[in-house]
Amino acid sequence: MSLTVKLTTPVTGAYQQPIGLFINNEWVEGVDKKKFDVINPSTEEVITSVCEATEKDVDLAVAAARKAFETSWKQVTPRQRSRFMIKLADLVENNLELLAAVESLDNGKSIAMAKGDVGAVAACIRYYGGWADKIEGKTIDIAPDMFHYTRPEPIGVCGQIIPWNFPLLMLSWKIGPALATGNTIVMKSAEQTPLSALVFANLVKEAGFPAGVFNLISGFGKVAGAAISSHMDIDKVAFTGSTIVGRTIMKAAASSNLKKVTLELGGKSPNIVFNDADIEQAISWVNFGIYFNHGQCCCAGTRIFVQEGIYDKFLDAFKKRAQQNKVGDPFAQDTFQGPQVSQLQYDRIMSYIKSGKEEGATVEVGGQRHGDKGYFIQPTIFSNVRPEMKIMQEEIFGPVCAIAKFKDEEEAIKLGNETTYGLAAAIHTKDLNTSIRVSNALKAGTVWVNCYNLLSHQLPFGGFKQSGIGRELGEAALAEYTQIKSVAVRLGGPLF
Ligand code: ADP
Repeated sequence: MSLTVKLTTPVTGAYQQPIGLFINNEWVEGVDKKKFDVINPSTEEVITSVCEATEKDVDLAVAAARKAFETSWKQVTPRQRSRFMIKLADLVENNLELLAAVESLDNGKSIAMAKGDVGAVAACIRYYGGWADKIEGKTIDIAPDMFHYTRPEPIGVCGQIIPWNFPLLMLSWKIGPALATGNTIVMKSAEQTPLSALVFANLVKEAGFPAGVFNLISGFGKVAGAAISSHMDIDKVAFTGSTIVGRTIMKAAASSNLKKVTLELGGKSPNIVFNDADIEQAISWVNFGIYFNHGQCCCAGTRIFVQEGIYDKFLDAFKKRAQQNKVGDPFAQDTFQGPQVSQLQYDRIMSYIKSGKEEGATVEVGGQRHGDKGYFIQPTIFSNVRPEMKIMQEEIFGPVCAIAKFKDEEEAIKLGNETTYGLAAAIHTKDLNTSIRVSNALKAGTVWVNCYNLLSHQLPFGGFKQSGIGRELGEAALAEYTQIKSVAVRLGGPLF
């Protein structure tokens, strides 16, 4: 069976799409020869089908990753690891158009945003390539007849389970620190969006990485994902996705071999606008904060709190702004918002909209399907919300936000923190003191001041409270992929 199919995108024309499992630098079909369909969210039609990994394939991928970890990858110097990674970043950039087009086709995000994602993927891999030869231990002076030092060592075989909202970007956040620190990888892409990662895998091989260092499988969470999180020979699992699945993964990790766990989970992030904010700027950022990537961001600014002095004016202008967001074909140059990723997500979001209406919130704009084909949903704003409503508590993961008033700083902080999540938050104000006081008081892993969603690979990202465990990005992520060995050397002298 051929493990490549010819597909077409409006940007690239025809291209060769790998559909196999990428294990040990080879394309394989999967032990059980299963396949599943990949759906185009803009048209609801099948794009192609790809090979589906089962537990047996996870075993093979883990064996390849283990062998590489203990042999070939161990022999590669940090400097050479860096070179492989920088070459890979260059290859991503050279293939930016193709990777972005595949991302738009499979995920539904606009081609402009997809290109932004792929640029960020290259930057992230290059950044961590730069770290590869700068991983250092310490010498610790304890006694004159002893020599103590630490070595940050790789953890081993890392299982990495990623979501569908930023298929390539999430992949880069995961592989960057893992490869830089000398680990090997078994990556599972999300079943909704396997295609771009498969194209990427060819670039890993082209960059010259030894076989088994990076293995990629397509498959379902309950089968391949569960096999990763409960595997006895995986040393660490890193996951991005829903809080509910995060819990399952942590349980599986604990009851199998106590593998290390990092989790980047959901959010219900507050976006707080004070009376003294630059209103026009604040509206742009609030709009971007919720509708970027169709609301499918774990850090989306879903709860918007506006100080009472400007509330009416703000709401009026925000409604106009939201209605101007161009919803439609991801391949149109001016599209801002494409379809939601799947029928399941579409149904979930529509049921939240229904629940908001039933609980008595007011739909200010949107609230309906957009068009009659594809999983498109109108940008939606609810007002007249109360903290206990479902739409104020649960992560909707779609283009739906709620807006409410606050009186003063104290109330803004209280409302902002009134959630079990703590991934991100934002404040809009011209007052430096307010911005620092409030950002200190908000229980969130990232706080944006007078902006939103401005992520950078140099800046750590992760959750307070139930939004996660550990940090991705920046130097902080290196610690999540290393373990410290302390060495104590006795230099002679009297025995005690
Ligand atoms: P969503 O509900 O938005 O699709 P999920 O958290 O379910 O998000 O999915 C994120 C990733 O987690 C995907 O790769 C998915 O296959 C995987 N996944 C889902 N369920 C499990 C599970 N029980 N064990 C391991 N991985 C899972």
